[in-house]
Amino acid sequence: LFITFEGVDGCGKSTQMRFLSEYLMEECGINPVLTREPGGCNISEKIRDLVLDIENKEMGDRTEALLYAAARAQHVEEVIAPAVREGRIVLCDRFIDSSLAYQGVGRGLGIEPVMDINRFAMGNMMPDKTFFLDFPPHLAFERMSKKRIHDRLETQEEAFYIMLYNGFVELSKLYPDRIVRIDASGDKYITQDIVRAKMEEILR
Ligand code: C5P
Repeated sequence: LFITFEGVDGCGKSTQMRFLSEYLMEECGINPVLTREPGGCNISEKIRDLVLDIENKEMGDRTEALLYAAARAQHVEEVIAPAVREGRIVLCDRFIDSSLAYQGVGRGLGIEPVMDINRFAMGNMMPDKTFFLDFPPHLAFERMSKKRIHDRLETQEEAFYIMLYNGFVELSKLYPDRIVRIDASGDKYITQDIVRAKMEEILR
């Protein structure tokens, strides 16, 4: 079973994923594989450093999209596919929908072309379910602007957050069976209750 967490920077997806994994281990006796993108294995973490390096300002949008796809190809082959084959539950912080939202919508490359290169990169590995953490983009922007260190992709503009957010909303309508939209605007423990309830449905 392959589950991904998606949303704009600052929506709380990493926290929700950590909470869910603690719940699975402590309450369900399940030991999930936790991973993230960009990254998740040696080569893909190197690509992450390259793509996020603030010095690489001249990087083109297509280059960026292909690097994310290349990192994903290695991550699927080395980590995700073997774990799923073994019957493990894999929880991944960001996956295909981040590429579709950031590179497809945010960078304006289009959802279809970005999906095409990623179909090649992923082989047959699509997430079984995706939690889209629906958190107001202006608040996510506020949260993230308080962080002092920024990488190449963390734009200071609120408009970019709103565009990405709209991208995720569009994706949740494009893939209604896969993407579960979670109201993440309230307290993080309330959000976690919603995530757990959905996870229990998936496990049933
Ligand atoms: O989620 P995380 O903070 O690890 O993501 C690292 C950075 O990469 C973020 O700034 C995010 O906006 C960016 N990103 C991106 N395109 C993707 C995935 C992540 O621009 N496909």
